Amino acid sequence: MILDSWGRYPRTIATVLEPLDGPALRRLLQAHASEGKIIPRGAGRSYGDSALAELVMSSRFLDGFLSLDSENGIIHCGAGVSLDSVLRVVIPKQLFVPVLPGSKFVTVGGAIAADVHGKNHHIAGSFCDHIVGFNLLLSSGEAVYCSETENTELFHASCGGMGLTGIILDAKLKLQSVPGVFINRRSIVSENLASTFEILEDNNTNTYSVAWLDCLAQGESLGRSLIFLGNHASNPNFETRTRRGINVPVTTPSFLLNKYSMGLFNSSYFNLKKLLHKSDTVNYDSYFFPLDNIGNWNRLYGRDGFLQYQFVVPSETALESITEVLKKVSAAGKGSFLSVLKKFGKANKNWLSFPLEGYTLTLDFKREKSLFPLLDKLDEIVLKHSGRLYLAKDARMTESTFKQSYPNWEKFLELKKSIDPENIFGSLQSDRVGLTVENDRKENKGRKKA
Ligand SMILES: Cc1cc2nc3c(=O)[nH]c(=O)nc-3n(C[C@H](O)[C@H](O)[C@H](O)COP(=O)(O)OP(=O)(O)OC[C@H]3O[C@@H](n4cnc5c(N)ncnc54)[C@H](O)[C@@H]3O)c2cc1C
Repeated sequence: MILDSWGRYPRTIATVLEPLDGPALRRLLQAHASEGKIIPRGAGRSYGDSALAELVMSSRFLDGFLSLDSENGIIHCGAGVSLDSVLRVVIPKQLFVPVLPGSKFVTVGGAIAADVHGKNHHIAGSFCDHIVGFNLLLSSGEAVYCSETENTELFHASCGGMGLTGIILDAKLKLQSVPGVFINRRSIVSENLASTFEILEDNNTNTYSVAWLDCLAQGESLGRSLIFLGNHASNPNFETRTRRGINVPVTTPSFLLNKYSMGLFNSSYFNLKKLLHKSDTVNYDSYFFPLDNIGNWNRLYGRDGFLQYQFVVPSETALESITEVLKKVSAAGKGSFLSVLKKFGKANKNWLSFPLEGYTLTLDFKREKSLFPLLDKLDEIVLKHSGRLYLAKDARMTESTFKQSYPNWEKFLELKKSIDPENIFGSLQSDRVGLTVENDRKENKGRKKA
């Protein structure tokens, strides 16, 4: 079948294997191991090609809850369980997931494999900093338990390892006790990028913070933003929420999203929010997952799909490098519908995890031919400032960019060769960035791109 992920680029022809239970998973792994690379897949909410390969092993059947220790705040569940389902189980116990990405539909396995971050990285680190341990199915068919103290190297390689070390079967997650699931939200308008950084720094004791940048603003307003700070409110109402949002039913013609419509959206959104109240209390669902409320919003970019460009740069040069990026984007006449800036705290010990202490900016671009040379130029700026791109969003990073910016890649490759010498696990992305091609199996029949 033709398969893609959230950005709808690239598309590939893949055989999707959908086991119904553990024994079937092992049988399928063994039966198909010689046919091409296999990559585990969760909900397909990564943007590019990290969950694409000739053979895709769905983990959605791993959807059971194994235990909930409310006293110690530890949940043990299958890797195919979505964060939404985890929240529904733990919230009534007055517990919460300590790190939440911008979509609740991602799976626990996908969250570990990308070591996802939320709006609180400066306080709580990333998702895997709260993982007690997980069972990993290796290419040999053996399942091993990995944690900070058992199979430690495999743990640090697999947390953020993009599914390349094996299939995460189930995981134990340490939950957070919270006074309530409503969030006291404060919004602050910043008139330019320097003031955006200043406000984020001055407010870094708030649990959550995020800045929505108007990336089409220029001159003195370059980098103006709306900053949303958040803290858990004390509220005895521990109810889970399902909002009935709108749905994008069909793929819209891509010309609807152009520089002018985006400009209009960005400035009206900015001006509207400026007029609205500055403090309110909202349910966790509205605060953390505003985009989930618009079903299939990725179709808004048309049939050619879109790319999300997410990079991180160290704090010291963040103002300079992000200014450079925004100017380059503006000079190229490209607009980004959504541009989100977040502050990151310290990096963790995971070998391929994305976060490093600094700032991360996310830009969405409609896919068109002229975009790729611009992104190459942005890569140069990011590398010059010792930053890197996020594998979970990437669809085009070169091997050289990857290897220059992920210093532990050699260590990762060495371990990968020792546990998966035939490169049974691999993705279009891992081939592209040079993590699985060197050691390719002879029988690999090559990739079929649609
Ligand atoms: C609207 C939206 C907002 C987002 N916001 C954020 C954000 O704020 N922060 C952030 O960090 N990310 C964010 N993301 C990205 C998303 O959190 C990650 O891409 C996540 O990995 C997706 O999980 P998934 O279950 O969909 O995995 P998939 O997309 O299916 O797979 C992603 C990777 O995980 C691997 N994988 C999946 N399941 C397993 C398994 N069982 N065992 C081993 N490997 C596995 C795959 O091989 C692949 O490499 C966002 C995505 C969307 C669509």
